[in-house]
Amino acid sequence: MSDRVVVALDVGGTGMKCALVRPDGVVVRTERHPTDATRGPAAVVGTVLDVADGLADKARADGFTPIAVGIAVPGVVDEARGVAVWSANVGFRDVPLRDLTVKRLGLPTALGHDVRVGGLAEARLGAGRGTGHVLFVAIGTGIAAAHVVDGTAAVGAHGAAGEIGHILVRPDGPRCGCGRPGCLEAMASAAAIGRRYAELAGETADAPVTAAEVAERAAAGEQLAGQVWQEAIEALADGLASGQALFDVATIVLGGGLAQAGDQLLTPLRAALHERMTFHREPQLVAAALGDEAGCLGAALLALDAVGVRDHQEKR
Ligand SMILES: [Zn+2]
Repeated sequence: MSDRVVVALDVGGTGMKCALVRPDGVVVRTERHPTDATRGPAAVVGTVLDVADGLADKARADGFTPIAVGIAVPGVVDEARGVAVWSANVGFRDVPLRDLTVKRLGLPTALGHDVRVGGLAEARLGAGRGTGHVLFVAIGTGIAAAHVVDGTAAVGAHGAAGEIGHILVRPDGPRCGCGRPGCLEAMASAAAIGRRYAELAGETADAPVTAAEVAERAAAGEQLAGQVWQEAIEALADGLASGQALFDVATIVLGGGLAQAGDQLLTPLRAALHERMTFHREPQLVAAALGDEAGCLGAALLALDAVGVRDHQEKR
């Protein structure tokens, strides 16, 4: 039993995080490879298949038996058909990545959405472990979420569940990348925080301020940074309150770059969320525990689920 592993890949715009993972969740090998998306989608697919095939070979060389492959990709993913439908930063357009992988490696393969499988990993192995109902919210350049119930993430009828970043929180707010004004993502993503600060400070585009710098300046007592930070907190609390009204989760796990602000984010956000709870129950609000490995671990879990193996829940 213990010699079985799954091959897991988390394909991002700049890099691929890859691993061999045992059914109990233990990682036995990790690799990182550049995605180099400028080469075009066909070349990226070629690299994905080469890396997966290479990992399966290394597993066999080390005495393991690869039983399945899990691949996480960003963008719009049709998990049921195993198709990477659309991705801005990797360049995928209707790529049948699951079938291509099955054909190349001869192993059962599952394809998942990067944030959704990240949520799966945080819910089953990370900060949401043992709490049953989890909302994982990744706050980076954009904002996306995964709703996980008893270890399974909802995919949605069209593969687009969890787009919490496009909840309307400020009707008069800035225009979102999706084309509509006032989305949560346009108010409280790391990119939005940097933009808002630069706008109010009148700084030029060649001196952009990151959300992390806004957080630092706010902590140091700078009034403008404090105001921008608090505006983002209030918008996030509105979005999370909507999430809680819909899903009634036990735990909200915050991941992505912005969550690295730690208590500077969590403490005021807990207070703002508390203010918004009326009859519904307040969730625990915690920082993600798995860091940038969550997507890769989640891809492994998806692969294990595809072949009906869930040892890690019993053992960990
Ligand atoms: Zn939007």
